[in-house]
Amino acid sequence: MSASRHPALLATDPELASFVAAEEVLQAQTLRLIPSENYVSAAVLEASGTVLQNKYSEGYPGRRYYEGQQNIDRVEALAVERAKGLFGVDHANVQPYSGSPANLAVYLAFAKPGDTVMGMALPMGGHLTHGWGVSATGSWFRGVQYGVRADTGLIDYDAVRDLALAERPKLIFCGGTALPRTIDFAAFAEIAREAGSILVADVAHIAGLIAGGAHPSPADHVDVISTTTHKTLRGPRGAMLMCREEHAKAIDKAVFPGLQGGPHNQTTAGIAVALHEAAQPSFVSYAHAVVANAKALAAALLQKGFDLVSGGTDNHLILIDLTGKDVPGKIAAKALDRAGIVVNYNTVPFDPRKPFDPSGVRIGTPSLTSRGLSTEHMPLVADWISRAVDAAAKGDEQALAAIRAEVTDLMAAFPAPGLPLA
Ligand SMILES: *Cc1c(COP(=O)(O)O)cnc(C)c1O
Repeated sequence: MSASRHPALLATDPELASFVAAEEVLQAQTLRLIPSENYVSAAVLEASGTVLQNKYSEGYPGRRYYEGQQNIDRVEALAVERAKGLFGVDHANVQPYSGSPANLAVYLAFAKPGDTVMGMALPMGGHLTHGWGVSATGSWFRGVQYGVRADTGLIDYDAVRDLALAERPKLIFCGGTALPRTIDFAAFAEIAREAGSILVADVAHIAGLIAGGAHPSPADHVDVISTTTHKTLRGPRGAMLMCREEHAKAIDKAVFPGLQGGPHNQTTAGIAVALHEAAQPSFVSYAHAVVANAKALAAALLQKGFDLVSGGTDNHLILIDLTGKDVPGKIAAKALDRAGIVVNYNTVPFDPRKPFDPSGVRIGTPSLTSRGLSTEHMPLVADWISRAVDAAAKGDEQALAAIRAEVTDLMAAFPAPGLPLA
């Protein structure tokens, strides 16, 4: 593998080109289990690197503050139409720069600083932007937070209702970053209706599963759908806000001019391509394969004696609870990295340890499924994880190196989309 597939970059800036080339090798050779990551297709990569990025386009198709939008308008309108079709919504805004600004735009659209907002607590699996203290959303708004039950690891919908009726929040967020189970959007909708709250489904992690029919859709239940485009949806780094017609104006005004300036047109193009890909029958297979792989991996990990939050998974994500092992999450994650298996350490609900050194490891199957690994490979993946955690406990670097060689070997047989062949 060489940097020669970026010849201009190599000629202009060989130092930077070498970093990109090294990242290509890393992404090709490692088993990438971070559940929020994926491999975009070569087509998405190409669309994201076009001259569309040279253009300023503040405003929306047909209503811009700059001239020369003949082509940009068509690109954005295409992305919007595809988003509406794929997710079955009245309105889509494809301009948010990423998931966090998309969520901030939702606050801007429906709440005033100091208003009460409700979301899942970060250590329970929620996202920072759902009103957690260190986030702007938790300091400019009054965040109240729900969690999961200690005995089941599942969302406690009775507690959610009690909190919502006591607090009457302006906004309720459902969805999160470390939720291995199906979200009951209808149950949240009933609670939001009783409390008089705007309900936001933040499906950043599961958008691709929803598009592929492998997770129920929130479209008929919620006021606003917020999503990133770069996780299971397998598009470029970006985000979308979708809603019913009644909220369209408020959402659009909040994104621009409320929060952002010019949209990143090259990203809009990449999103359009990803949405086209996600509308194909092959993506339905992909989404279901992601879930089948996660269930098979969870079963294999349980067999190896691991504890999993909520006892397993319904989606693409597994939260391993290492509380009963000799190795905390960060040490396990770093050892797995040396073994060629890329994960992230994560808090588990009711974690006895600190957030920067928690008890959990979060893994997921979107990337390995994009490479074509299937359920038959999951016992091997679980075995590698188990051996690596044992090796971490013993400080056995040789064992980690041996696993890394095995991982590199298998990955060579499953080339990743968008990467040069080794
Ligand atoms: C990833 C994620 C976000 C934030 O997305 P960024 O693009 O990283 O800003 C927001 N909400 C949820 C639930 C996420 O998983």
